[in-house]
Amino acid sequence: MTERFSYTLNATDGRARTGVINTPRGDIRTPAFMPVGTAATVKAMMPESVRATGADILLGNTYHLMLRPTAERIDRLGGLHKFMNWDRPILTDSGGFQVMSLAELRKLTEEGVTFKSHIDGSKHHLTPERSMEIQKLLGSDIVMCFDECPALPASDEDVRKSMELSMRWAQRSRDAFGDRPGHALFGIQQGGVTEELRGISAEKLREIEFDGYAVGGLAVGEGQEAMFGVLDYAPDMLPKDKPRYLMGVGKPDDIVGAVARGIDMMDCVLPSRSGRTGQAWTRRGQVNIKNARHSDDPRPLDEACTCPACSNYSRAYLNHVFRSHEMISGMLITWHNLHYYQELMQGMRDAISAGTFEAFQAEFHATRAMGDIEPL
Ligand SMILES: [Zn+2]
Repeated sequence: MTERFSYTLNATDGRARTGVINTPRGDIRTPAFMPVGTAATVKAMMPESVRATGADILLGNTYHLMLRPTAERIDRLGGLHKFMNWDRPILTDSGGFQVMSLAELRKLTEEGVTFKSHIDGSKHHLTPERSMEIQKLLGSDIVMCFDECPALPASDEDVRKSMELSMRWAQRSRDAFGDRPGHALFGIQQGGVTEELRGISAEKLREIEFDGYAVGGLAVGEGQEAMFGVLDYAPDMLPKDKPRYLMGVGKPDDIVGAVARGIDMMDCVLPSRSGRTGQAWTRRGQVNIKNARHSDDPRPLDEACTCPACSNYSRAYLNHVFRSHEMISGMLITWHNLHYYQELMQGMRDAISAGTFEAFQAEFHATRAMGDIEPL
């Protein structure tokens, strides 16, 4: 435990890194996967269950929480940690990305964004200053800069203008955040898939100085090849002694590829969202539990997995409760998925420490290539 936010890089293997982010609310082992608690809950999971999967930190969404129940109400009730019963670190996004993807009638100016709530149509204004205020009211441990992510495809000129606006907003975010010991502010690199723009953005962010840096504007539909193309150079443009966060990623193979390219933190709704639609992620790839082949299968989802879904239930049971629309279906498969993701992160941390990350990656891909176990 520490009173300040800091990052210690413990080992590297190729470009992959392992370390620890120290915060007053607990350590975050990196590479870290952050489950997403959009509306102050990781859907279908109790907070203690999320912790039991091995998560050190959760992500909360500013856009959702500012609309309902509002940041001011969460503040009156003692902050987001107390409100949702999670006393470990929380990272909040800035709201910018979700305004662009969810809100209606957006109007973008130098000042900020005006939009209508997707819930009730009420009008809201979000600026770098307001985003910093909301994230402070929530009590977030890691605060993200307010930025703009252009809708793709976009012309080089539009990507450049958007990046330059995001850099001006990064400075305003830094100024508004002020000095808050124990809390961190992360800058967000933009620049689309253009190396030159990524370089300019990184330079500007380094000049402002942040506690950590995100590679932004990826995982927005550009595909894995284009994303890895950017990750081949973008993380190395950012300071080595600060954590690097890839926002909104991803599938297990995206995560392994990102870690191999020097990323330390990631978040994604995929394991929890898939859990509610009967999609399980396992060492041997994806399993669709609603498929009829599972309805008489007494075997667990993954016999090597120690999560409650695999320890105590059969594929036949998981298939039955999914088809019967029972709530336990989403609970069990979400738990399994989050457990698998955290186990994957632990495996990578161990392999990087041991200098065997290349072998780890080879085995990861070989096991996935085998596909699911043969039907009975
Ligand atoms: Zn499991």
